[in-house]
Amino acid sequence: MLSLNPSRSGRVRTVFVAVPALALLATLEWRAQALFAPADPLAQDHGAPGYTDTPLLPGGKWHVHDPARPRPPVVTPGSASTPEQPGRAPSDAIVLFDGKDLSKWTSGGGPAKWKVEGGVAEVNGTGDVETKEAFGDVQLHLEWAEPTPAQGESQGRGNSGVFFMGQYEVQILDCFENLTYPDGQTASLYGQYPPLVNACRKPGEWQSYDIVFEAPRFDGGKLVSPARATVFHNGVCVQHAQELLGATQHRAVANYAAHPAKLPLRLQDHGNPVRFRNIWVRPMERRAP
Ligand code: MG
Repeated sequence: MLSLNPSRSGRVRTVFVAVPALALLATLEWRAQALFAPADPLAQDHGAPGYTDTPLLPGGKWHVHDPARPRPPVVTPGSASTPEQPGRAPSDAIVLFDGKDLSKWTSGGGPAKWKVEGGVAEVNGTGDVETKEAFGDVQLHLEWAEPTPAQGESQGRGNSGVFFMGQYEVQILDCFENLTYPDGQTASLYGQYPPLVNACRKPGEWQSYDIVFEAPRFDGGKLVSPARATVFHNGVCVQHAQELLGATQHRAVANYAAHPAKLPLRLQDHGNPVRFRNIWVRPMERRAP
């Protein structure tokens, strides 16, 4: 019996030493994470600026200026493109084309076969290309240049397009001094809404799209909320939170058919040698209520 006592007291000592030690380690680790976490190097939960004696915001979860509210992750912004040089993507973007290859893309069940040369991918009649990865709500950056000298007219001049979820097209076309139907011109939501203005550059010059696309929501087969697009063309807002009527149609009214929450992004081969560079995407989650 006596022999048990030292053993028991040893266990007790071990517990008394081990528990505070583990707690200390956990605290140090937490401190280290708080101090050195790359996502939020300024995080300091104690003494963080803010107020808790303020009214609750709608929803009742956070006070106005609540210091406990989760801080957004830190992102290193990218850099702007110049006519000669594509810019750099933000640090949290998925780069879909950086000028080297089309390995993030597929075509007809096989590799994408558009010509890649000099940091540029060019449509070459081998068919549409679509991303291997599927996306829902996204911010997309994309640059393209129209063939020069311009050839063809109306929808035959430098036609391509970016299809969100493979079916909602933002039109790519050379509409610099080129007449076509307004709901089919550059930056139109094809067959639905013309752009607010025509911000086209001359053929041969690099142009950009920055697009925020919100996927439609379905409950079973029923549409709960439509797709929505905000489009900046060469930095000019040309579609503002525009609700789409449905999936893109030609010579017909667009409509919705229920589909998965995420689907690949598609670029159109319309038979015109449109060139692309610097394509990246940032998937986005909708803000929690
Ligand atoms: Mg098109």
